[in-house]
Amino acid sequence: MIPNREAFLRKAASIERWDIIVIGGGATGLGTALDAASRGYSTLLLESHDFGKGTSSKSTKLIHGGVRYLRQGNVKMVMKALRERGRLLKNAPHVVHPLQFVVPCYRWWHKPWYGIGMKVYDALARSLGIGPSTFLDREETLKLVPGLHPEGLRGAVTYWDGQFDDTRLLVSLAQTAVHERASLLNYFPVTGLIESNGRITGVEAEDSETGTAYAFHARVVINATGIFTDSIRKMDDAGVKPMMQAAQGIHIVLNDSFLSTDTALMVPDTDDGRVVFGVPWHGKVLFGTTDTPLEQIENEPMARESEIDYLLEHASRYFSQAPKRSDILSVYAGLRPLVKANKETKSISRDHTLIVSKRNLVTITGGKWTTYRQMAEDAVNRAEKTAKMVKRVCLTRNMLLQDPHKFEAEETKADIKLSDSNRVESPLIHPELLYTEFDIRRAVSHEWARTVEDVLARRTRCLFLNAEAAVQAAIRTAEIMGEELDWTPERRNLEVSRFAETAKKYKVDVND
Ligand SMILES: Cc1cc2nc3c(=O)[nH]c(=O)nc-3n(C[C@H](O)[C@H](O)[C@H](O)COP(=O)(O)OP(=O)(O)OC[C@H]3O[C@@H](n4cnc5c(N)ncnc54)[C@H](O)[C@@H]3O)c2cc1C
Repeated sequence: MIPNREAFLRKAASIERWDIIVIGGGATGLGTALDAASRGYSTLLLESHDFGKGTSSKSTKLIHGGVRYLRQGNVKMVMKALRERGRLLKNAPHVVHPLQFVVPCYRWWHKPWYGIGMKVYDALARSLGIGPSTFLDREETLKLVPGLHPEGLRGAVTYWDGQFDDTRLLVSLAQTAVHERASLLNYFPVTGLIESNGRITGVEAEDSETGTAYAFHARVVINATGIFTDSIRKMDDAGVKPMMQAAQGIHIVLNDSFLSTDTALMVPDTDDGRVVFGVPWHGKVLFGTTDTPLEQIENEPMARESEIDYLLEHASRYFSQAPKRSDILSVYAGLRPLVKANKETKSISRDHTLIVSKRNLVTITGGKWTTYRQMAEDAVNRAEKTAKMVKRVCLTRNMLLQDPHKFEAEETKADIKLSDSNRVESPLIHPELLYTEFDIRRAVSHEWARTVEDVLARRTRCLFLNAEAAVQAAIRTAEIMGEELDWTPERRNLEVSRFAETAKKYKVDVND
């Protein structure tokens, strides 16, 4: 079924009671909707903005066990994540692939120390391992990563993990969920919870596009709103103690000439003990991340100057050519949904948390992208128990996720407009961006895109790859979307100016 907002809305309004309503359309929410729908439950998901507008579009793009958690001794969590990494490599090969990492060694003890850690990492992955970790000498290291700082380099340890495009995996999850008969609505914030006989039995929500209010009923409601978890919990119980702590992480995006490699860089030896990655992605290098505790929570956070300086300082230590502010093509910030354990966010729980309120609101939060499927399985298991539904088997462990392009070919057999050859022939939307006008039309017709930002930030990754080029591409994008969605000239202009406003947060003040 091709996603059609009106059709989902008609269905949503006509169903008297859903089995499960999921609030939030990030990795956790979409994973949960897919799990629930594939068990045969009637499932409605409501997202206040666009799918992936929150943290799920702003990750480091790694499907990984998390070597840093190993250092913290959290073996159980690493093992769980490695198991999910193995599943994702099998279930979503169109969007998740193996990536080799190099850990550069500049001191005599680095090699044995990191080497032992990586051997443990290999062992924990067991049969789901991607490839063995290895030791490289100085020449081999520089051959693999020519952009590394050569001074004092003694060699490296290599290991394997997974890499992906986070919002493309979201599109896959959404399309697979729809294939399993879930209904998904973006731009549909939940504004309140419905209670009857002391139980949460539905949600109040508003269609942001029309301002119309709706009430949807369900046997059970699942809160999967990431850093906004407490705002939904407060709708259930105004006096509830907040459980979330956000920690901001930022990445700077540079030309790939800075590392000149297809291999990723992992730096475990930063000033404050954080791990920093240099990851090749869509022809660029992502360099991050930071970990700054934040009180203010928002869907579009902004990098702080101190965070940008921190990353540039570390890049200058490890790259032979030190990047300057003017080299930054884009900078993006995301907020980790951490569950409070104590004041230090680095020691806060990075595992996921599942709780059920007195009135039966199921909340699933924390965790990471890599473990979204396990989180979803646990949430639906608990929802079944909470709503006293007969337990059904979870089917997602070995479920192949839809490849959006194949899916679309299947769904549009008669539609020759949407074929790969058309994509190749279609003009690029900007000389610096490898996306075509065809990609924009497809994002609207097949991938729920409703705004210029949806297309340039999350269906394509233009905003993340080159913020200035994305702003320049916005006018043409609005024209094409206007044709597809019947926009007035005023709406097109509004879209372009709104996008330019958002893009300001992805640009860096240049004062080299
Ligand atoms: C900088 C950074 C790098 C990371 N890198 C990695 C990585 O490489 N690998 C990895 O495995 N993990 C990584 N993570 C962690 C991972 O990105 C998150 O754990 C995950 O994306 C959280 O997903 P979520 O669905 O819980 O939250 P979100 O993606 O934030 O989704 C919650 C959604 O709920 C919606 N919402 C809020 N309120 C309402 C409402 N009232 N009604 C309807 N909808 C609502 C929001 O709009 C949002 O879209 C990283 C995190 C950060 C911050």
